[in-house]
Amino acid sequence: MSEEETTEINEMIIKCPACNVDGIAKSIMKEIEIPHFGKVLETTIQCEKCGFKHSDVIALEHNDPAKYTLKISKETLSVRVVRSQSATVTIPEIGVKVEPGPKSEGYVTNVEGILTRFEGAVKKALQLFEDEQTQTNAKKTLSEIHELINGNTTATLIIDDPFGQSNIVSDDVIISEIPEDELKELKTGFSHIEDR
Ligand SMILES: [Zn+2]
Repeated sequence: MSEEETTEINEMIIKCPACNVDGIAKSIMKEIEIPHFGKVLETTIQCEKCGFKHSDVIALEHNDPAKYTLKISKETLSVRVVRSQSATVTIPEIGVKVEPGPKSEGYVTNVEGILTRFEGAVKKALQLFEDEQTQTNAKKTLSEIHELINGNTTATLIIDDPFGQSNIVSDDVIISEIPEDELKELKTGFSHIEDR
């Protein structure tokens, strides 16, 4: 992960959003120039006192809702992926999906990095749920993820972003509109408060 140019543009000491202690959390803002995509702003907040850490990326240009589809294979493992906080990431063949929530993070990674994140989530499920059904399913998913990381099989990576802030930076990516009915179903990660 070295091809992009990173400029640190701002570093601040702020009040920690988690433990509320003043003057301890560090907020670092970086501008990252990603070839064939453009500039993104990465913000990381880190608190030394309570260990709180959160990061997010936003593309500096606003885009329309978009669906990005790429075939995962040995050849595409190193393809750049920008996942914004509002994006849903799915690999339908192995039944894994990450939806945005209040704690979801935006990040810049590659296809392999996405697979590694799924691996971590499945491992966590293995520890949390001890019933046989979950154990069997999780172990199967884990071995499917390993096959993909090792380049032995292929699958489809789909990123749905209602704000078009994500991207898969490859000539092989298919960018399409998100169908209206799917768009309504997508979570954005924001809490909605109904006013009535
Ligand atoms: Zn804190």
